Amino acid sequence: MAMIRRRSLSLYYISLSIFAACLPIFVNCDDNLNRTSSTLINRDLYHSSGDLMEMIKNLVHRHPDKLSMETIEAGNKGYSAEIRVVTYCHRRKESDDRSKIRILLSFGQHGRELITTELALRILSILSEEQFLPNMNPVSLNSTLDELVIKVVPMENLNGRKLVEEGDLCERRNGRGVDLNRNWSVDWGKKEKDYDPYEENPGTAPFSEPESQIMRKLALSFDPHIWVNVHSGMEALFMPYDHKNTTPDGLPSQWMRRLLEQLNKIHCQKRCMIGSGGGSVGYLAHGTATDYMFNVVRVPMSFTFEIYGDSAASSKDCFKMFNPTDHSTFNRVLNDWSAAFLTIFKFGPHYLDELRAKASAANGDKRVSIDEYLDGYLMQRTQKDGKKLEVLDIGMQEIRTYFRLFLLSSVLLMFMFCSRISKNKYSRPTTPCEC
Ligand SMILES: [Zn+2]
Repeated sequence: MAMIRRRSLSLYYISLSIFAACLPIFVNCDDNLNRTSSTLINRDLYHSSGDLMEMIKNLVHRHPDKLSMETIEAGNKGYSAEIRVVTYCHRRKESDDRSKIRILLSFGQHGRELITTELALRILSILSEEQFLPNMNPVSLNSTLDELVIKVVPMENLNGRKLVEEGDLCERRNGRGVDLNRNWSVDWGKKEKDYDPYEENPGTAPFSEPESQIMRKLALSFDPHIWVNVHSGMEALFMPYDHKNTTPDGLPSQWMRRLLEQLNKIHCQKRCMIGSGGGSVGYLAHGTATDYMFNVVRVPMSFTFEIYGDSAASSKDCFKMFNPTDHSTFNRVLNDWSAAFLTIFKFGPHYLDELRAKASAANGDKRVSIDEYLDGYLMQRTQKDGKKLEVLDIGMQEIRTYFRLFLLSSVLLMFMFCSRISKNKYSRPTTPCEC
């Protein structure tokens, strides 16, 4: 989502810096206004999308016991998209074991946030034990990972990323100009007063975009317990809601906040902003992935992380605003946030279990699994039905697509039939003219 928008992020800083720059001399301010530096992608630090996906593919091939990868494709109206999904399971044959805790992580939803996709590669390298973090205990990590199935989407918006690589360094939307983090159905399409289509175009309808359709299907089928949507533009740990300035009521909300406070203390040195996306960032975001995951997929721990931002960068210098440009910051960000994800892998399941135990205790100690708890135990039936309706909605969309195809082919057949009749009519032998 780059919870932060380019315009709102730097307007204040730009005004302040221009004002400060003009103060000493009171002349040549126009020069300052016109002079914009734009940092290019540092190829010593960042992989191209092609190279990054190739490296991930090779990593998966080297670790068939732990990793697998699938490519999901979708398209409409002449536009198509594909998303690669890597599944990690300590013993791969157990990846369908529904007693394990399921974690879904997405990176690169916005094209210009290259650092997030580098983090995906780093996390997968650590999971496959090709890279290690300082102070990481492999034995303890293995016992943690034994209980998990982790699905990683390393680059959700490949088409948008390609536009960035071709030189449009400020592009965050997909290959046809839609913001993939405004294209989901919760509170879709609402526009704030400072709405900027270059930043937040929500598309023609909820899930109009192939990328969002793929992600929705993946989320509904995998049914994760923990979801993290990884962005850059600032340092923040957000929980729902994005479309209103409050956090949800109830136990899951309390446990989400506890986990975020722990991450902020250990890995962010308390610099990170914490709370609801809508309440913390200063504007509301409508139709976001995290609100959908929490409200509809019922993921009890749904987060948006913002892993890096340079608030001093010019608003036109997008690469610098959203990505570290020097070697040491680049490595610090990747190390800090890889460690943060390992903390989630360790404590997330623990918090979920405490949440379940608390719910069981409140109901006469009737022991339930976390899935039973989430599937309706102490949950409002209406919310559960919301999920079923969503699955039904996907079915309806598919029926509508088939109906459109049927109509199109009927029109084509009619056209062919009519043109044949008219051809026969005009090619019929005519009687010789009697005059
Ligand atoms: Zn973003």
